[in-house]
Amino acid sequence: MYCKVCGDENEGYRIFGIYMCKRCFNKLETVSIDDEDYDEYKNLIRILLSYYISKELNPVN
Ligand SMILES: [Zn+2]
Repeated sequence: MYCKVCGDENEGYRIFGIYMCKRCFNKLETVSIDDEDYDEYKNLIRILLSYYISKELNPVN
């Protein structure tokens, strides 16, 4: 499956109903507020949540 975050085809997990590869998942797990990439991952989480919310609001008929 293709990762919804980075678009690569990697082994990973299904989180909030979307597919995320291990690499992106590890990044999310290990990122800290002090990390210079933190803002990037805040955006990433926002993307994940928007996928989740839009799925909830627009159930597939
Ligand atoms: Zn990924």
